[in-house]
Amino acid sequence: MSKNKYKKEPPQDERMHSETNKKNQKNKPHFNPSHQIYVRAMKGVYQKLRRKIGWFFMLLFLITPWITYENHQAILIDIGKQQFHFFSTTLWPQDLTLLACLFILAAFALFFTTTFLGRVWCGYLCPQTVWTFIYIWFEEKLEGAANKRRKNDSLPLTRTLFIRKSIKHFFWLMIAFFTGISFVGYFVPINELFIDFFTFSCSFWVTFWVLFFTLCTYLNAGWMRSIMCLHICPYARFQSVMFDKDTFIVAYNEKRGEKRAPRQRNKSRNAGFGDCIDCNLCVQVCPTGIDIREGLQYECINCGACIDACNQTMEKMNTPKNLISYTTEHQLAKEKINIFRVKLVAYGSIALAMLGLFLYLLANVQPMRLDVIKDKNHLFQINHETLIENTYTLKILNKTQDEEKYSLSVSGIEGLKWYGQKDVTLKAGEIFTLPISLAVSGAKLKKTITKITFKLKRGSGKNKTSIETQSRFIGPIK
Ligand code: SF4
Ligand code: SF4
Repeated sequence: MSKNKYKKEPPQDERMHSETNKKNQKNKPHFNPSHQIYVRAMKGVYQKLRRKIGWFFMLLFLITPWITYENHQAILIDIGKQQFHFFSTTLWPQDLTLLACLFILAAFALFFTTTFLGRVWCGYLCPQTVWTFIYIWFEEKLEGAANKRRKNDSLPLTRTLFIRKSIKHFFWLMIAFFTGISFVGYFVPINELFIDFFTFSCSFWVTFWVLFFTLCTYLNAGWMRSIMCLHICPYARFQSVMFDKDTFIVAYNEKRGEKRAPRQRNKSRNAGFGDCIDCNLCVQVCPTGIDIREGLQYECINCGACIDACNQTMEKMNTPKNLISYTTEHQLAKEKINIFRVKLVAYGSIALAMLGLFLYLLANVQPMRLDVIKDKNHLFQINHETLIENTYTLKILNKTQDEEKYSLSVSGIEGLKWYGQKDVTLKAGEIFTLPISLAVSGAKLKKTITKITFKLKRGSGKNKTSIETQSRFIGPIK
């Protein structure tokens, strides 16, 4: 290895040190949003994996609102109508338990993943990281590598650099805009949104939210980047609670690496020195600007960039790879590894139970709803046929996205007579209020209060579905 090949870079301005590493606490910098980290691009197994995952989820995010199912947008959270359309299922505020299950499931899945694999969510899946790396990719293509960018930014702005920076910001804004409009497209039908937006006929609030999310994306991924992870995101703060000595973290093998010292490629290390040649590459590629050799740090997002960087160095030095690697504290200390920990099993079990409950509830979401409200002002009355009569208000909700025909019936008392409409046709999403009365001869009533069951039927043949709702029929005291 030539000497200048691994010429030591100046340390990152915003290098931050471990909370757990007490000796470095005094070096911890204050919050300084103007500091920029010049992240050096790196190739390697984990970066390739991360790029693929990032592109996949970004494309999924952009394409999903365009997917249609039976002439409707397949996934749409219609806030105005308080409905969530998910392919053939429409969820209403009444189905809130499903949403609660989904949130609990997501939370415990995240706890499980964090306990097992550390902050892989942050490193591989978090939109902040995915968008930041896409922005960095454009930056690198247009303004050059990290060294060049740092140097250029310290010099007066030239015409060429101004043009390059302008093109970069144009691409950043385009990505931000399509992110913003696609995100709003989950809440407003996306076909109409695109047409309305480009013909300036969107409502004020829709335009506001598109521009708001465009600005947020541009600022977050373009300017704030690690500031979001280090100072704003609450997950970074509480994730350490889920860590234990068997959690996979990105760690530097201090025993093998120290004492660090530069050396030439073909020279074997001197006695008392380790494998780290202090090339600083692991620091230059770190998106949060930390030095993983300082120990476990809450700023580390487990992205693996430093592993790829160090492996590249180790390869060039003909030294075994994985001086920095995904490992556990127990593994590093060559102690017993315990995969099935109580905490991990508990998180996993709760997540699985929630998944089961969520799928069960989802499979049993009814495409209609029937509410029965008994008239409380008149418990009963004797009608013109000298029958005992009770009055009810039925509320029928068509939860589907199509017009549907329904028929009503009641059971529970023999010879119960129905006064009012029994068949109704409702438009998609319509709520229909139907006042009805039921009457029966006093001789047929065995009790003062008798349980009755209303039945609402939809469709015919194999597509027939029905739901039942309980109510009471009140007669004279027996
Ligand atoms: S220390 Fe390594 S794994 Fe952690 S954020 Fe920096 S580059 Fe990524
Ligand atoms: S840990 Fe690896 S990448 Fe980092 S300075 Fe040492 S040799 Fe270089």
